[in-house]
Formats: sequence, C-alpha cells, structure tokens
Amino acid sequence: MQNKDNILQDLLTLSHELGREDRGLAMLGEGNTSARLGDETYLVKASGTCLGTLKEEDVVECRLSALLPMLEKDSLTDQQVDDALLASRVDPKAKKPSVEAVFHAYLLSLPGIKFVGHTHATTVNQILCSPRAQELAEHRMFPDEIVCCGVASVFIPNTDPGLKLAQVIRRETELFIQKHQCPPRVILMQNHGIITLGGSRQSVLAAMLMAEKAAKVFVGAAALGGPVFLTDATTARVAGRPDEVYRQRVLKM
Ligand SMILES: [Zn+2]
Repeated sequence: MQNKDNILQDLLTLSHELGREDRGLAMLGEGNTSARLGDETYLVKASGTCLGTLKEEDVVECRLSALLPMLEKDSLTDQQVDDALLASRVDPKAKKPSVEAVFHAYLLSLPGIKFVGHTHATTVNQILCSPRAQELAEHRMFPDEIVCCGVASVFIPNTDPGLKLAQVIRRETELFIQKHQCPPRVILMQNHGIITLGGSRQSVLAAMLMAEKAAKVFVGAAALGGPVFLTDATTARVAGRPDEVYRQRVLKM
C-alpha cells in the first residue's frame, strides 16, 4: 500500500502544479490527471473537481478492464457511458470519474506510461483554435522542445468529448507508435487542449510546461512572419544525441 500512497501523492502534486493559476493551463473544473496503480487499476480525477486544489477524496480508483472494452464499441448512449464509468469504480462510494477517464485508461495501458495530464493551456489553445493548429503538432522549433515533447505530437481533429474522443485518440496514437516506434509525449486536440504522458509526474509536467512555452514561441514567431521550423533531419539528430538522452534521464523524462 505504501506504493499506492506514493503514487497518489505524486498524482496530487502533479495536479496542483498543472492547476496553478499563474500558469494559465486550467481553471475551475478544466483538465484532469491520472496515474497507473498496477496491472488492474488506475487513479483518475473525479468529474467536476479542480486540479489546483485536488484532494484525496477527489481521486477515484477505476478498473482498466471495465473501461478498455468500451473502445471497441461502435456507439454507446451517454447514459451507457455514464453507467460504465460508475461501474468501473473500485469503491462504489467514490465520486464519479471524469468523462475523459476512458482516454486516460487507454494511454495508461501503453508501455512505460504511468502518469497522464490533460489541460486547456491558454497559449496552446490559441494555436489549436487557429487555422495553423496542425503545424504545432508536426514541427519542432528548438532543441528543448524535442527533449521534453518528443520529435512530434499526435494531432486530433476536433471531436466530441467522451467515448468518441477516446477512440480517435487511440487510432491516432497507434499510427504515431507505428511511425515513431515509441509512445508520444504530447497529444494536441483541435479546439480543445493538450494531453501529456510519461513514466513520471516530472516528465508529464515538463512536457506540459515546455509545450505551453513552445506555443508562446510559435505565436511570437508567427507575428514576425514565422516560425522557422527545424528540419526533420535536425530534429532526429537532436533526439538521438547522447547528451540529450543523458539530460532526459537526469530530468526523469
Ligand atoms: Zn478537456
């Protein structure tokens, strides 16, 4: 149980960092977080709770086996999705899991992924609500962006929240893994927000903060006629450099 307590504390810390008002990543009930507990269950933020002030009772333990099969279903009513979310709880007295708990379950089932964070980051959303949204996912502008956010991000066209969104996230993430041979660090959802994922709470926070910084750089560079993106060859070289790999390890990436 010690391990479970540590993971819960890490999840609360990550949530408080993502919910900090000065960072402009999430306000009120925006965003959610999750953490893998073991083979069978994970912790996820309850619906309607606030990241910045998240408490132990705002976190729900859910069974992966109760939610992952939903990804195979063609269509479920909102009521059926709600029922499945409630039935997935280990403690039936716990709060209702976030409607986005299904994509958290999928992402936490990827190899090496232990924490997931989702926010509606202000600057990232400036670009995701613009005609240039896809460019933010496909290109990189500076080396630290590659270290923290990977060589590219998954791009999700505007999709209804809930089960449909979880299914599109799975489809696009599988294509990314086929192409890059590793899970993504960042998923960008058009007209919605950003998901970051990793093996530690530090890597999830670093990818989130760096993606928001990259978005600020993008917006500023766009005002000056840019951005000038790194070439694919440069991006690949930075990703493979031994000093950058060492830096990733030191940063618990
Ligand atoms: Zn959202």
